[in-house]
Amino acid sequence: MAPSPKAPLHDPEHAPSWYAATAHPQPGLSALAGDVRCDAVVIGGGLTGVTAALELAERGFDTVLLEARRIGWGASGRNSGQIGTGYSPPMALLARLAGEAGARDLWAMAEEAKALLYGRIARHGIDCDLVPGQLIAAVKRRHLAELADTLAEWQAYGYEEARLLDRDETLARVACPAYLGGLHDPGAGHLHTLNYVLGLAEAARAAGARLFEGSEELRLGPGGGGTAGRRGEPRHADEEIRGDSGEREGEEDGADREDGDPEHLEDHEERPGDPQLLDDDEPQEGGERHQDERQ
Ligand SMILES: Cc1cc2nc3c(=O)[nH]c(=O)nc-3n(C[C@H](O)[C@H](O)[C@H](O)COP(=O)(O)OP(=O)(O)OC[C@H]3O[C@@H](n4cnc5c(N)ncnc54)[C@H](O)[C@@H]3O)c2cc1C
Repeated sequence: MAPSPKAPLHDPEHAPSWYAATAHPQPGLSALAGDVRCDAVVIGGGLTGVTAALELAERGFDTVLLEARRIGWGASGRNSGQIGTGYSPPMALLARLAGEAGARDLWAMAEEAKALLYGRIARHGIDCDLVPGQLIAAVKRRHLAELADTLAEWQAYGYEEARLLDRDETLARVACPAYLGGLHDPGAGHLHTLNYVLGLAEAARAAGARLFEGSEELRLGPGGGGTAGRRGEPRHADEEIRGDSGEREGEEDGADREDGDPEHLEDHEERPGDPQLLDDDEPQEGGERHQDERQ
């Protein structure tokens, strides 16, 4: 693949990537124009924001989501797409930091996250190239020992799905003779991250949430209620959920923010006849992801 030109940080379009090049058609959502009233405003159209908008809309809250650029523009539309088990640090480290009970809660949260993700893909028929299974391959003897430690740790938390593979079993799955063995985890997986977040966005819209692209939030007041909207266009919502970093570009702690008077809002611009962001194909299954321990 020819190297892609770097996208400027402020480019409103998706950065050039394999995900962007293979995304389902994105007709584009209209920018917020005019006033809106809602129960909750969600700032940022990444996985955090779009999922929050979906959950809120499904619970009957009148929800507005503001995305400064495009849905999935940030990390959510261009990450590695790995659905991993547990956390990057070993659970032993998390137990030292959070205590044994805290570590068990963290483990349960990570497992719940996987279940929620698989459940949403199935429930909303999100076509995001979901491939179950991961293989972490060992290229050095010490990697084999590390993978055995990882498996033992997972099993101590009650996770029984994964198992170690010897060299031949690994070779049967990945035609790479450099691999000495591996840890196979059928409960993990991989997906097309941009198509996943686009599918969630479509589900949120179907549930009644109003999603706007090209609509940067600038200022929300503390506590329930506040102002949001495009630059110079204050808006009001009863609740806010931040799915962005909480910081505005070019704004440092304590820096003055552009201000605007809070207003209650009445109207919103609907984009007539929005075509579906995605079609309704069932998730695909196929081979699985593998990675090795060379890094
Ligand atoms: C290189 C890399 C690889 C990763 N790989 C994986 C992986 O394999 N598996 C995994 O589970 N996680 C992975 N992650 C982590 C994962 O991508 C993030 O945890 C997740 O995408 C965070 O989602 P988010 O919605 O919180 O943030 P983002 O996806 O960054 O979304 C924030 C959104 O808010 C918008 N925004 C910002 N400010 C405003 C504003 N003022 N008004 C309106 N909108 C605004 C932005 O435009 C953006 O679209 C990876 C991350 C990186 C960086």
